[in-house]
Amino acid sequence: MKENICAISTSLGIGAISIVRATGPDVISIVNDIFKGKDLTKVDSHTINYGHIIDENEIIDEVLVSVMRAPKTFTCEDVVEINCHGGIAATNRVLELLLIKGCRVAEPGEFTKRAFLNGRIDLVEASAVNDLIEAETEESRKYAINRVEGNLSKLIKKNRDILVNLEASLEVNFDYPEYDAEEMTHELVLDRLSIILKELTNLLNTARDGKILKNGIDVAIVGRPNVGKSSILNHLLDENKAIVTNIAGTTRDIVEGSITLDGIKLNLIDTAGIRETEDVVERIGVDRSIEAIKSADLAIYVLDNNDTITEEDIERINSITVPKIIFINKCDLDSTIDLSSLSNETIIKGTTTDPEGLNELKDKIKELFNFQQIKSKDYNYISNAREKALIASAVKSIESAIESSKNQVPLEMVAVDIKDAFDTLGEVIGVSYKEELLDELFSKFCLGK
Ligand code: GDP
Repeated sequence: MKENICAISTSLGIGAISIVRATGPDVISIVNDIFKGKDLTKVDSHTINYGHIIDENEIIDEVLVSVMRAPKTFTCEDVVEINCHGGIAATNRVLELLLIKGCRVAEPGEFTKRAFLNGRIDLVEASAVNDLIEAETEESRKYAINRVEGNLSKLIKKNRDILVNLEASLEVNFDYPEYDAEEMTHELVLDRLSIILKELTNLLNTARDGKILKNGIDVAIVGRPNVGKSSILNHLLDENKAIVTNIAGTTRDIVEGSITLDGIKLNLIDTAGIRETEDVVERIGVDRSIEAIKSADLAIYVLDNNDTITEEDIERINSITVPKIIFINKCDLDSTIDLSSLSNETIIKGTTTDPEGLNELKDKIKELFNFQQIKSKDYNYISNAREKALIASAVKSIESAIESSKNQVPLEMVAVDIKDAFDTLGEVIGVSYKEELLDELFSKFCLGK
């Protein structure tokens, strides 16, 4: 028997309206028990009803109650939403009354989990609901709504359908050779698999861009102390977030902030000046900054135009394995730097003393990460590690099937790889899943969603 669950779906605080949501088999009669107005058990589905929430004879709040009956609801079960006056006391009291009357507090993401378990949305769409809630930029919103609308799921399902049809045709050939069915040849199998391979490989190649759209680009600003890293960060952030001084080694830790560049988020990390140091606190900062560079999508290595390049700089620059831009700062001062040893690097010159000084740097980032191309695509991207690993595994199975077909391996063997690819694509959309996966996925959701 399904439990009745409830939660405050809006963020709790002072506001015009708060919404308390409940779903489950008895929620309409439960709410009706604390509602003074029309008999909610008799109203039409998908109606909004004016009245009061009451506790015995005490009026708790003046509300609008939306009644939505199964199955055409978010969870596919009966859903009631109570629009209360925003604010902590009224909202909490309404929730409390629902708990007294037999609901239990929903776990994070439990409404969406029910939508998935009841078959209204698949796993890709379910996780996209959270992506949409968390979207901070226009591009991450477009990415998420495309998934919520099921476009990525359709693409996966389409390829899965081709695989299942292929599998079925092969089975008929194996089991009923006397039937007048289409004769499956290695060439035919190869043709169909090649189409799927192309689509899935394209999708796999979107993983980096998908992550960028969803989470933004992690940019580590690195270089020796005093070259102007904190000033660059502050200029980009347009606020004095990092401490700027002319005493080397003042940024003791990693400072983070983010800006939106053409709808895409840049997560900026100002790392402690990298240099050999005896100071224990500074040492921790330096270690963390080395880690930050490794996990960043882009490193901006800053050099001082009015200084020289040291051996240490060259060593550090060469050791960076992620994409990098060398930014020559302080170009308002005389140039004493010799750039001949950096002929293979992408170099941008600028200054933080001029508001325009960093525009070229921003343009370079857009170019390096192909902003134009990311945004002109259809937003069918994969982004999370789970999807990436599964699609990579499906691609492997298809490649193996293709290889076997080319080598005229018996089709019974080829069919095993086809079945594997079909099953793996099923895992992407949640046709099969492990309970722990659902727990992990939905625990990241906010309460009431
Ligand atoms: P960090 O240690 O690399 O983070 O360097 P800071 O941002 O703290 O800057 C060190 C010093 O350089 C400060 O006195 C800044 O005002 C100065 N500075 C930063 N950028 C520029 C620039 O473009 N031109 C000039 N002339 N000075 C700068």
